[in-house]
Amino acid sequence: MNAFQLDVAADGLGVLTFDLPGEKVNKLSRDVFVELAEVLVRLSQDPRIRSLLVRSGKPEVFIAGADLKEFTQIGAEEITAGSARGQALFEQLARLPFPTVAAIDGVCLGGGTELALACDYRLMSDAPAARIGLPEVRLGIFPAWGGTVRLPRLVGLTAALDLILTGKQLDARRAKRIGLVDEAVPHAIFEDFARRFARARSGEGKRRSRRARRPPVVGALEATPMGRRLIREKARKKVLADTGGHYPAPLVALDVLEETDGLPIEAALEVESRRIADVFGGEVQRNLLGLFFATEQVKKETGVDDPNVRPRPVTRMGVLGAGLMGGGIAQLAADKGIPARMKDVQPQALAHGFAAAAAVFRESVQKRRLTEREMTGRMARLSGTLDYSGFAQCEVTVEAVVEKLEVKRTVLAEWEAAVPATAIFASNTSTLPIGEIAVAAGRPERVAGMHFFNPVHRMPLVEVIRGRRTSDETVATVFSLAKKLGKTPVVVRDLPGFLVNRILAPYLSEAVRLVREGCRIEDVDRVMTDFGMPVGPLALLDDVGLDVAVKAGEVLQAAFPERIKSGGDEALVAAGRLGRKSGAGFYDYEKGKRGAPAKSAYEILRAEPKPEPPFPPDVIESRLVLPMVNEAAFCLEDGVVAAPGKVDLAMILGTGFPPFTGGLLRWADSLGLTRVRFLLEELTGRFGPRFEPAHTIRHLADARGGFYSASGAAAGAEVAS
Ligand code: NAD
Repeated sequence: MNAFQLDVAADGLGVLTFDLPGEKVNKLSRDVFVELAEVLVRLSQDPRIRSLLVRSGKPEVFIAGADLKEFTQIGAEEITAGSARGQALFEQLARLPFPTVAAIDGVCLGGGTELALACDYRLMSDAPAARIGLPEVRLGIFPAWGGTVRLPRLVGLTAALDLILTGKQLDARRAKRIGLVDEAVPHAIFEDFARRFARARSGEGKRRSRRARRPPVVGALEATPMGRRLIREKARKKVLADTGGHYPAPLVALDVLEETDGLPIEAALEVESRRIADVFGGEVQRNLLGLFFATEQVKKETGVDDPNVRPRPVTRMGVLGAGLMGGGIAQLAADKGIPARMKDVQPQALAHGFAAAAAVFRESVQKRRLTEREMTGRMARLSGTLDYSGFAQCEVTVEAVVEKLEVKRTVLAEWEAAVPATAIFASNTSTLPIGEIAVAAGRPERVAGMHFFNPVHRMPLVEVIRGRRTSDETVATVFSLAKKLGKTPVVVRDLPGFLVNRILAPYLSEAVRLVREGCRIEDVDRVMTDFGMPVGPLALLDDVGLDVAVKAGEVLQAAFPERIKSGGDEALVAAGRLGRKSGAGFYDYEKGKRGAPAKSAYEILRAEPKPEPPFPPDVIESRLVLPMVNEAAFCLEDGVVAAPGKVDLAMILGTGFPPFTGGLLRWADSLGLTRVRFLLEELTGRFGPRFEPAHTIRHLADARGGFYSASGAAAGAEVAS
């Protein structure tokens, strides 16, 4: 393979460079391990070496972690051996007879961090790409190449838990603060500094006798077994509160830390490799890994089938409308290095857009993710205007003016008159058909949808809407721009509600109906947060804005009257209760903070909350989740997206649908479509025809298949034909 190159200088400095051939990043695979094992044997026997620097030959990456493709090929029964193999290798590194220094000048994650932990010293550069962490829990596992054993011994229990249980990543400054790295070094002098540092260690012997190394006492609590137990108990409570207990990995990681407390390293490693088998291969782990691959897959896609289509490069963006969404979109562009020009109809609105962008940057500064200087630099990428000056230079303009067809058509016509024929118009509309907006366009092939979710800087999904006349090049350009902005795009067909809002509509209106039928607001929401949603449907309606939701609901009700019906929330809008932004919706709000459910909301809805819930939680859950599954099946039949995997990705990234389930349709598959059909039919009998199962569901239930076992699109087409 030749992933490692060893150079030994006359003065005894060994430099081991990891540079995986043919790959953009360094990953730890079986083959890499085989080669590294041989290299380590050679190193241990090389009499010339007095200290060793371990570095990467890749720009911006030290080691990205394990090669996750191999995770799909390992059986659950092999994982303990796999973990032990990695541990043994890193032990071999830890036992080299001279000081070892890891030079981290880029991404250092998972197995990369575990390798660095096995070195005597760690240096990290302040390059923007450089970060260190153990993201394993996000993939449903925990570090099992020695990470849970070495990290607490190095940085103490509290700091170790903070990394292992959350998967968070640190820059050099923070890593230095907790003692994870020895020095945070300016990128410009990193290589030179690292060599000097390693050279200065030569002849010093190992850092400290490994046996004598005791966990550092960070706080008084950490000094005693009792104190450490308290820390772990507190951490366990926090994990349960944050995840509802749906994710086994952080809980098992806590068990490991408990079992290994005070054990010698060898015995502790044995516990770690034994317990990884409790999470690896489980449903949650497989779902989270599947989600990771689905997101990675998008990075390789172009948004169109034709491999010859190339996206146009975007060097400047225009944004029409500097409101809530426009301000957010311009901020995002500026953050990712693309100058953005905003246009609005009045100076106050423009000022509001700048203020909204500044507020997002300010938050990053407060969280120390950005310096004041960087914020100033990014704000300088924003400009504003009341006319179309400067828009001719913007290859793509995102339209985010008010949600009115006439206004959008006018704006499109004005914009077309001001820009060259190659410019692209991407509307951020939530509900208006792209084809309708472009009906009188001179260049309809250059009009598409680019639907961001609110708040723009947090929500990772963008729906790229392909109108009937939108060209491949336009779709590919908008798709590629979404990726450049750090989002995950999903291409959807130009039908009412597109994908995510269409699937949410029956869910949200059913939640309102449940309240009108006597359920308490907080009970309805709790069923869904227990299910794993980040917020319940009624709280979500308050966050979205009831006026916005009612408008979208009207469009969907007009398109699909047999299934999507208003829940009656327009009464709340009429009463001025618009949700969080107006200080009152289903809940009351104090300074923007959600309080108790509002009595007057019940009165306006003419609902009487019963002390005894009228339906048990499982019925409430079925009434809320199954209509989403059903609507997703109709979406597949209508060709809104190409495959069930896209529905799941969009629902997870666009609504926070619980990742541990693998997504809406994975969840349905694991319930079984026979059961899904049965429950929908039962609901139809009890509550009305809006629950009638889609053809696809009936067909798949008959065939004993699932959305994934038959391609959803194919299943839809089969029924349609
Ligand atoms: P907003 O009311 O906050 O902002 C709209 C802005 O457009 C205002 O500043 C207004 O002055 C400006 N405007 C009106 N006419 C204009 C014109 N002719 N030229 C330039 N600017 C003009 O609205 P918003 O919430 O930002 O929504 C904008 C778009 O984004 C809508 O299409 C909406 O459906 C969509 N959207 C909204 C959300 C959301 O949660 N609010 C989410 C996704 C998409």
